[in-house]
Amino acid sequence: MSGPGFETLAIHAGAQPDPTTGARATPIYQTTSFVFDDVDHAASLFGLQQFGNIYTRIMNPTQAVLEERVAALEGGTAAVAVASGHAAQLIIFQSLMQPGDEFVASRKLYGGSINQFGHAFKSFDWRVKWADPDDISSFEAAITEKTRAIFIESIANPGGIVVDIAAIAAIAQKHGIPLIVDNTMATPYLCRPIEHGADIVVHSLTKFMGGHGNSMGGAIVDAGTFDWSASDHYPMLSQPRPEYNGIVLHETFGNFAFAIACRVLGLRDLGPAISPFNAFMILTGIETLPLRMQRHCDNAKAVAEHLKGHEKVSWVSYSGLADHPNHAMMQKYSPKGAGAVFTFGLKGGFEVGVTFVEALELFSHLANIGDTRSLVIHPASTTHKQLADEQKIAAGAGPDVVRLSIGIENVADIIADLDQALAKV
Ligand SMILES: *Cc1c(COP(=O)(O)O)cnc(C)c1O
Repeated sequence: MSGPGFETLAIHAGAQPDPTTGARATPIYQTTSFVFDDVDHAASLFGLQQFGNIYTRIMNPTQAVLEERVAALEGGTAAVAVASGHAAQLIIFQSLMQPGDEFVASRKLYGGSINQFGHAFKSFDWRVKWADPDDISSFEAAITEKTRAIFIESIANPGGIVVDIAAIAAIAQKHGIPLIVDNTMATPYLCRPIEHGADIVVHSLTKFMGGHGNSMGGAIVDAGTFDWSASDHYPMLSQPRPEYNGIVLHETFGNFAFAIACRVLGLRDLGPAISPFNAFMILTGIETLPLRMQRHCDNAKAVAEHLKGHEKVSWVSYSGLADHPNHAMMQKYSPKGAGAVFTFGLKGGFEVGVTFVEALELFSHLANIGDTRSLVIHPASTTHKQLADEQKIAAGAGPDVVRLSIGIENVADIIADLDQALAKV
């Protein structure tokens, strides 16, 4: 990376002292709309001849700082901030897909993404084909004439399983398809997917980026690398747009056309805007991302090592451990750490899992990850309760499985809490 270092960008990218008041922290522009200078100014904003604020659903100055910061940290040309990670995914696919089109997705994804792709997207007739990240050839085997994207997570949730991004990027490139990487679990502090060939990076800012478990947000980052005009597969970018006087977005906006499409078509028409307040909270969180993320990883590694040696624990799945089958991949793509979310198995079954989770005191029992606080969930009794036993096991949510998201508390306190709860099972 040339220019300022990551820690400097995390604090300064996109932000200037407020031109009217001198405010140093980014103000929360808590307004729905912005006054035009005159009718010509309004016309040029609506016609995309000039950039500017019109209405907070599409753009807002607090949100704009967040967007510039995330784009800078990921090394992209532009970013769009939206209401949540799932909203970001919806807007990305709406920009790429026509009804009947297909995309290939890793089967090891955040559970909510598996639901969104497998169920919600059916109403748009966007068809997912699952591939196995442990068998890279399965991605190429799933590609057809109708494939319009490949979707993976950099560090897969849970387990800190790192996917071979460059190998999948090579397949995407060979077939003229953009590679989308969900970088939520890694954050750009640990891994920058664009450097390995990603064309689009997507975030749930709700997790480690915001980092304090207080605000929902999502982001879409345009790498500026994909040629949208090489085929007629991406009409939203390569064909004249009737909403904007026949403008062709790729022709007009070049290497940030995808971000523009997501903003002036996706966000404008589908509507999931981030609130200025949430943008402010997440921006503040990002200022300490490098410090927090390193502590998250260091604590998680210490906890994983401790659990591995515990008599009541049957296995620990964390790629930060030297004997994990994915450890070499983790060292290649995420050398500063394997993230903070992993699973382990308790000796005994369902009841032991329930007793353990209820006995924890410092850990919060809830369905989130990426908080300063340490979090725990027993998937078999919560997120995956509806599934049959065999389905639970296939999804990595067998009766003995516990998922942890390790926080940035004192690591001795985290380990002591786990030990006292293990003593009760
Ligand atoms: C949470 C999460 C999402 C969805 O984000 P929301 O902000 O909850 O909508 C997507 N991908 C991953 C990896 C996540 O952890």
